[in-house]
Amino acid sequence: MPARIIDGKAVAAAVRSRVAEEVKSFESERGRTPLLTTVIVGDDPASEVYVAGKHRACEEVGMRSSHHGLPADTSEAELLALVDQLNRDPDVDGVLVQLPVPEQIDPDRIVAAIDPGKDVDGLTPMNAGLLAHGMPGLVSCTPAGVMELLRHEGVELEGAEAVVVGRSKLVGIPVARLLLTANATVTSCHSRTRDLPAVCRRADVLVAAVGSPRLIGGDAVKPGAVVIDVGVNRTDHGLVGDVDFAAAAEVASAITPVPGGVGPMTIAMLLVNTLAAARTRV
Ligand code: NAP
Repeated sequence: MPARIIDGKAVAAAVRSRVAEEVKSFESERGRTPLLTTVIVGDDPASEVYVAGKHRACEEVGMRSSHHGLPADTSEAELLALVDQLNRDPDVDGVLVQLPVPEQIDPDRIVAAIDPGKDVDGLTPMNAGLLAHGMPGLVSCTPAGVMELLRHEGVELEGAEAVVVGRSKLVGIPVARLLLTANATVTSCHSRTRDLPAVCRRADVLVAAVGSPRLIGGDAVKPGAVVIDVGVNRTDHGLVGDVDFAAAAEVASAITPVPGGVGPMTIAMLLVNTLAAARTRV
């Protein structure tokens, strides 16, 4: 029985329309509109495309957005000064420095300098620490999007076996932590995991966040599992995920496609975070 396809575009659209309604209530309560500010250093074309998408999404839900484009030779001190200025600006609710930054700048230092209350990417050590302690904070957008998809699909996480392939700070670790907070029994896999297919086959919920095209085959999927594929890999045959979609869909009960699964959720959750950041500010 082929799996149900989890439609990330539709779930993201539902999240955006919910945020648009909540922005209207925020405006009538607080008399102002949430503002997301983005920063790009240099002229990386992919960064320009991603950030333009974030500005379009803000406009669509009635939020304001502003942008600072800095030259590629900007020093770390200059970027830190801008972050400090945005942290202090009472009009700015969310600060997002698009990565990567040029090599003269240490990305970890920049991320750590963002006010955790305005850290709408959820990447500061403070927000990562709050997540690790199971405490409320701003959660990084892609992991939050994975959880929103599972919630939307009504997947029972309590007591479920969850396997997360990948342990990056950006995706794998926060997804594993969120699943643990939801009372799943979580196994984290990585490049040194022995017999990856055997470990994956234990999963009621399998999340792949690796960056390796079709690494997870149909033989690694337990019959009836829910499969969330975070991977985005450019190949000669177009964009593919970390999961062999056709093979996995024969075995799973539900699966996200690539593209059109997790991808659209990331920007939707950025909007959720920007509104949450605006709400927590007086
Ligand atoms: P990353 O920082 O490169 O981390 C990859 C992880 O995969 C590492 O933990 C690595 O293990 C593990 N890994 C590598 N090869 C493996 C193997 N053969 N078996 C098991 N584990 C292996 O990547 P990332 O930033 O987490 O991104 C992962 C994927 O998600 C990428 O395709 C990226 O493009 C995509 N992504 C998508 C979105 C979205 O919005 N859809 C957002 C972010 C990322 P070690 O720790 O041992 O090295």
